[in-house]
Amino acid sequence: MRNKIVAGNWKMNKTFQEAEDLLNDIAEGLDDIESTGVEVILCVPFPYLELAGDIAEDSRFMVGAQNIHDCDAGAYTGEVSAPMLKSLKIDITIIGHSERRKYFGESNGFLKSKVDTALRNELCPIFCCGELLPEREAGKHFEVVKTQLEESLFHLSPKELQQVIIAYEPVWAIGTGVNATPEQAQEMHAAIRSWVREKYGDELANEINILYGGSCNAKNAGVLFAQPDVDGGLIGGASLKSEEFLSIIKTAVATRG
Ligand code: PEP
Repeated sequence: MRNKIVAGNWKMNKTFQEAEDLLNDIAEGLDDIESTGVEVILCVPFPYLELAGDIAEDSRFMVGAQNIHDCDAGAYTGEVSAPMLKSLKIDITIIGHSERRKYFGESNGFLKSKVDTALRNELCPIFCCGELLPEREAGKHFEVVKTQLEESLFHLSPKELQQVIIAYEPVWAIGTGVNATPEQAQEMHAAIRSWVREKYGDELANEINILYGGSCNAKNAGVLFAQPDVDGGLIGGASLKSEEFLSIIKTAVATRG
């Protein structure tokens, strides 16, 4: 049985003090939730990783980054590498978020090399995939997501893919207030699992976590997480308020297997 995962993506939000308050509020709230079978991850901005790591030591959440460079070190002003994250005891990073694809031109090929860099450094990638609205309207959403997986992930060995969390995030749902319906999420998650099955077999397909992301909040998390192939969520806006985020975690607890 797969664990449910609730991962928050803070994006470029919060000052240091606000971050500390939110982390403490989440840590405190988690003390009151019997969350066995649910993993909580907070992907915070780089400057707050160490702070988050310290607070996480006495709590039940894990800390992740939101991005890495594809090189391990070098003359890349302003960038952050996987070995740097590891030296801060960070074991997780988002890779391929649609905002990175859109604003920083990250292609499937480039993301493949970031995935390799993450795994080489023993970082678990939360790999984001998802179609644009015109692609869905043209009926190309399955093709687009399959290509993203084939070009960035499906070169991995089974042992490597086992370390990856996939997040299906239809781009039209991110930050828009319009979430995918439970049916739309389920059919894409089932398709992703079937592609993993075709290439890697039953065991890995049954094991791999596939999260839903895109305007997921305390109101709609229940129906989304109840879908058989939805293993939790990657939560943007709703992870910035402790009460709402904790409520999503409680929903994950209620829908775990
Ligand atoms: C995200 O950025 O990964 C995301 C899902 O954002 P939101 O929940 O705000 O749509």
